[in-house]
Amino acid sequence: MKYFTADPAPCRKNIFQGKVLFENEYISWIHDELSGQLIGAVVKNGSGENLLTEPLTFSIDRSENGKGKSFTAGASAEKVQFGENCVITESAFVSKDGEILPGVRLRRTVEYGEWGEAVHTLELTAEDPVDNVTAMRPAVFGVAGTIDRLGVRRRLICGTGAWSLNPCVWQRLEGGTKHSDVIPLQENHLPLSMTFLDAGTEALQFELGDDIAAWEMLPGFQEIAMIYNSTTQGYLVRCAAFIDRTDETVEGSLTLKFRLSLPFVRKNIVPLRRASSLLYFQRGFENRWPGDEDLKAMKKAGIDLLRLHCDGDSFKNGIFWRATVYPPFPAEEMKKMAEFLDKAHKYGIHVVPYFSVKEFHPDSPDYPANFEKWGRRGFSNSRVRTNESFGSVMCLTSDWKNKRRASIAEVLEKHPFDGVYYDWCAGLECANPGHCGTPHWDNDELLEHLKWTADNFKSTPERYLHLTYVSSLAVENAATMVITEEHGFPALGPEMFTPHVHFLNIAPRQICNMMRGADAVQKRQLAMAALLHHASISTIDQEFWDFYASLEWLDDVERYTAYTAPGEGLASSSDSRVGVSVYWNDEEAMIVCANFREEVSKAEITVSLPEKPELEETVELAPLEVKVIKCKLLVDRI
Ligand SMILES: [Zn+2]
Repeated sequence: MKYFTADPAPCRKNIFQGKVLFENEYISWIHDELSGQLIGAVVKNGSGENLLTEPLTFSIDRSENGKGKSFTAGASAEKVQFGENCVITESAFVSKDGEILPGVRLRRTVEYGEWGEAVHTLELTAEDPVDNVTAMRPAVFGVAGTIDRLGVRRRLICGTGAWSLNPCVWQRLEGGTKHSDVIPLQENHLPLSMTFLDAGTEALQFELGDDIAAWEMLPGFQEIAMIYNSTTQGYLVRCAAFIDRTDETVEGSLTLKFRLSLPFVRKNIVPLRRASSLLYFQRGFENRWPGDEDLKAMKKAGIDLLRLHCDGDSFKNGIFWRATVYPPFPAEEMKKMAEFLDKAHKYGIHVVPYFSVKEFHPDSPDYPANFEKWGRRGFSNSRVRTNESFGSVMCLTSDWKNKRRASIAEVLEKHPFDGVYYDWCAGLECANPGHCGTPHWDNDELLEHLKWTADNFKSTPERYLHLTYVSSLAVENAATMVITEEHGFPALGPEMFTPHVHFLNIAPRQICNMMRGADAVQKRQLAMAALLHHASISTIDQEFWDFYASLEWLDDVERYTAYTAPGEGLASSSDSRVGVSVYWNDEEAMIVCANFREEVSKAEITVSLPEKPELEETVELAPLEVKVIKCKLLVDRI
């Protein structure tokens, strides 16, 4: 049995024609050899083109005799040092006409990690105070106009609520062809993260470092601005700690951090992996563990990964897995768990236990002494959120991370699980003053937690991650399965999902089946919609499994190297209730059509793949039918 794996991929240094590259099989970061400046970011199995249309700089604006003058650090450096996986530069701030901002220096350290991340640490020092400063922009860079989606996670202060996950909000970009592209983003708070996505192909992500407070020198005067530049045919992205001041003084020292990440886009399409929660809640407590017949049915549906998800008191008998409490169940249930693990392994199915990265249950003996100390507070005067079943929400920038790690290690060392399922796998903003700066978030700590997991449990490498509405490229690079959606859905149809469902060819993806009381037609429509986005449904419902068992070609998709989902502009249908997706490689395309109507549909299908002949097909589909058409791309139809 071949399981999907996600392995760390450190970047190695290569020097080539005046450029220093830090690259692995998936990505390449490019620095200028003389200045050390970051000038390129390439996703090898994406377009292979440079995603940075303008190199990375740090600028300080000053008013001199009533006139504005900009000083930039980046294009030249006094000291440049290239390590095996890091770059250190020391630069002055220089204006266009060569004037130097006296006494002000920038030391930039860029560290390339194993999961596609580049951590930038900026240390600014001003030997003597510099006055009349009007703006400070620590990160300015250009992103290619080929990106067609912008995903922004805003700060809590922008109004998403103290307990919110600050969900990623997506907007379309049009390559500079529409008015909405002139300034697609301009706000007076720097977002937690921005994902610049060319759907299905490649992406670049910017995320603030955990110490958000360091960026808040003048609350209310930050600015994020994204502006289309017709000269570079890209978007200029300017992250300002402050703008629009008249007489600020820069003095002493200051440290800021941010992270840029690139995705590990695979060469071949990742499997449409099927996975599920494993307990049968609807069969009653005594029959909740799957037996041989159940495992046979799972196997037939192609399921190769199950999660022991038992975090709530579903049977009202108090027997459920309280976060961080061990053992989770009474002796009799522990025996059933052990027997089940043996059985699942005989069927070649991996099993992982549910861990909440953030939740701490009040029944844990050390809870009373620590939950206030380790807890996440949305605002400085808000309480720690507590749920009777799930526990209280903690922050990874506290000693909670050590408690969580010890409790995970205990389970994995005592039982033959195959890895982990991580719920609440999201960096969250926190204002608990006992942690790092206030406010902060625990996004870097979350990646550290994933690294800890990968480093310590190499022989059990499943990392099944719940990343609902919070894309994070480095974290997703470390996943063997990603869940992206769990709430209610709008009308069931081919384009019902956010771009985070299909997203990128990094790791297998799925969505939760959260439709309550759905009939057979709705279930099939949901399964079809997910299928068109190359995602499976996380479910223990036999009707979904029958759907997968009926699609014999599912295991064939890995021989293709590209894929497009509905709404991405490459494939369309004359009937809006007929969805179209396409898998292809150099020789062949496989068109998948799904009829969401409960009646026959005859639709004209048009497929325009990059650098391939246009394909046109007329298809007649039975009610709710999924049909596959294979076409040779070089010569004639097969
Ligand atoms: Zn915190």
